Amino acid sequence: MPKKYLGQNFLFDPSILHKIIEVSNLTSDDTVIEIGPGHGKLTKMLAEIAKKVIAIELDLELYTRLKEEFERIKSYHSYTHLPIYPFNIEFIHGDALKYHYEKLGAFKVVSNIPYYITTPIIFRLIEARKNLKSMTLTIQKEVAQRIVAKPDTKDYGVLSIAVQYYAHPELKFIVPRGAFRPVPKVDSAVIHVEILEKPRVNVRDEKLFFRIVRTAFSQRRKTLSNSLKAISKDIKGILMDAEINPIRRAETLTIEEFAKLSNVLSFEHVPLSC
Ligand code: SAM
Repeated sequence: MPKKYLGQNFLFDPSILHKIIEVSNLTSDDTVIEIGPGHGKLTKMLAEIAKKVIAIELDLELYTRLKEEFERIKSYHSYTHLPIYPFNIEFIHGDALKYHYEKLGAFKVVSNIPYYITTPIIFRLIEARKNLKSMTLTIQKEVAQRIVAKPDTKDYGVLSIAVQYYAHPELKFIVPRGAFRPVPKVDSAVIHVEILEKPRVNVRDEKLFFRIVRTAFSQRRKTLSNSLKAISKDIKGILMDAEINPIRRAETLTIEEFAKLSNVLSFEHVPLSC
C-alpha cells in the first residue's frame, strides 16, 4: 500500500519518464542524486545514462525491495557483459533533507519529489549549491508556476526570487495528475533549474536583501512605503534614493530593483533591528 504521508505517488508512464530524462540534459560524466526512487523506474533510466546514481529513499520497505531487486539484476548481469548499469547505483536509506550534499563533487538532481518536502528540499539543495549543477524536478504545478513567475503576476513572490536569485528555472512540461498512481489531487510540472555561477544580482548584504523581500511580500497588497515600514523609519526616502516609487507594490519589483533597494539601505542607512 502506498504511504500517503510519504508523498508516494508513483510515475510509471514510460513516455513521461523519457521526457524527464530528455530535459535533464544528463551525460555519461554526471553524478545524479535521485530523491525518493520509489519503485526504481526512473532510477534505472538515470543509471543507463549517468556515471553514478545516488538514490535516497526514506521508506525502509521500498528501500529494501529496491536493494534486493537490483542485487538480483546485478547477479544476472555478472554472467553477461552488459554496460555498467546497475553497478553504478548506490541506494541510501534515509531522509533526503538530512543528506550531506556538501561532501559530493559536481552533481545533478533528477527527482519526482514527494509533495510534502518540495520547498524545504529546494532550499536545502540551493544551500548546497557549491557543487550542484542543475535540478530537474517533478513537483506540484502551482509550486512550479511560483518558482518561474515574473513580476506583475499573481504567482510572483518570495519563492520566485529565492530561486531566481541563485538559478535559472524553466517550466518544461505539465504532468497531469492521472499519470500518477495513486492519482493525487493536483497536477504536476517538470522544472529544470540551472544553478548560476554567481547570484543573478550583486547584493552587498544577502541577509538584508532576503529580509526586505520577505517583509515586502508579507503584505503584498500594500504599497512598499507601508509594507516596509518595519525595515526603516525613512523607508520613503530610501525607496526614492533607489529610484523606486514608494506607492508601488512588492509584486511589481524586479530582482534587480530589490537588489538596488537593499544596497541603498545597507550603504546609506542602518536598518531597524538587523
Ligand atoms: N521516483 C518514484 C517515481 O517517480 O515513481 C517515486 C516518487 S514519489 C512522489 C516520492 C518518493 O520519495 C517515495 O518513494 C517516498 O517514499 C520517498 N520519500 C518521501 N519522503 C522522503 C524523504 N524525506 N527522503 C527521501 N525519500 C523520501
